[in-house]
Amino acid sequence: MLVPLRLLTICLVVIFASIAHAASTPPPSTKLKIVASFSILGDMVRQVGGGLVDVQVIVPENADPHVYQPTPQDAKMIARADLVIRNGLGFEGWLDRLIDNSGYKGPNVIAAQKVTPRPLPQTGHTTSKTIVDPHAWHCVQNAILYVDVITQALKVALPDHQLILDEHKRKYIDELKNLDSWIRAEYRKLPSERRYVITTHDAFWYYGDAYNVQFLSPIGISTDAEPTAAAVAQLIRDIREKQIRAIFIENLSSRKLIEEIAKEAKISIDGILYADSLSDSQASNLPAQTYVDLMRHNTLQIIKGLRN
Ligand code: ZN
Repeated sequence: MLVPLRLLTICLVVIFASIAHAASTPPPSTKLKIVASFSILGDMVRQVGGGLVDVQVIVPENADPHVYQPTPQDAKMIARADLVIRNGLGFEGWLDRLIDNSGYKGPNVIAAQKVTPRPLPQTGHTTSKTIVDPHAWHCVQNAILYVDVITQALKVALPDHQLILDEHKRKYIDELKNLDSWIRAEYRKLPSERRYVITTHDAFWYYGDAYNVQFLSPIGISTDAEPTAAAVAQLIRDIREKQIRAIFIENLSSRKLIEEIAKEAKISIDGILYADSLSDSQASNLPAQTYVDLMRHNTLQIIKGLRN
C-alpha cells in the first residue's frame, strides 16, 4: 500500500507544480513585450521578468550603444512593445527620436533613475557631449538599484504577477550582493596602492569608485570622441611615470589605438574587458553572456593585469 500512496503523492506534486507553472508563465503571445535599449540592461530585465516577459534589445551584443544608428526594424519593434526600458544618464542619445518615429506611446522606464550620477571625469583628454557618466551599471550596488526600478515597472505592467516578480527580484538581488562581496574580497587580496588600469574609453569610473581602481583612457566618456595626439602622448607619459602594467582592449572598440599605446609604452595587452555590451550570445564560449558573468570576467581580468 505504501508504494501506491507514494506514487499518488508524486502525481499530485507534479500536477500542482504544473498548475503553478502555468499560472506563473503565460503563453508567448500574452507575455509582456519589453524593448531594452542595450544588451546588459536586456539581461537584467530577463532576470527579473523570467517567463512573464519577452525581451528584445535594440543595440545587439557587440554593437556600440554610444554611436548606434537605429534601423526601421527598431522602430517596428518599439511600436509593438508594451514597455521600453533604457539606461538613461544621456547614454542612448538616439532613442527619443526613434521612439517618436515609432509612434510608441507606452511607458518609458529609466533604469538608472535611482543612481547618483557621477560627474564627468576630469581627464582633460577630450571634450564630450555627454553631461554625466552614463556607465553606472559597472558598480554592482547601482545594478541593484536598476533591478529595483525594473521590478517596480514590471509590477505596474503585470499587477496579477507581483508576488512572482518580487520572488525573482529577491533571488537576483541575492546573486548581485554575492557578486559585490566576491569582487570586494578579490580586491582585498591586492595592495590598495598603484591600482592603475588603461582601457579604451572611460567606461569604468563607477567600477573604479566602488572597488578602488583608477582607470585612464585615451578617448574619454563616449566612443564617439577621437583621441588627440596630446592625450595619447600624456597617457604614455602616465604609463611610464606611474609604472602602469594593466592595459586592456574593449570588446566594442578598435584594437589599434590600444595596441599602438602598449607598443609605444613597451607593455603587453592583458586581454579584453566588456564595457557597454555583453559578449555575443551566439558564441557560447565567450565570457560575458550575462551581467553577472561580465562583472566576474572583468574583475578577474583587471586583477590579473594589476598583478603584473
Ligand atoms: Zn561607454
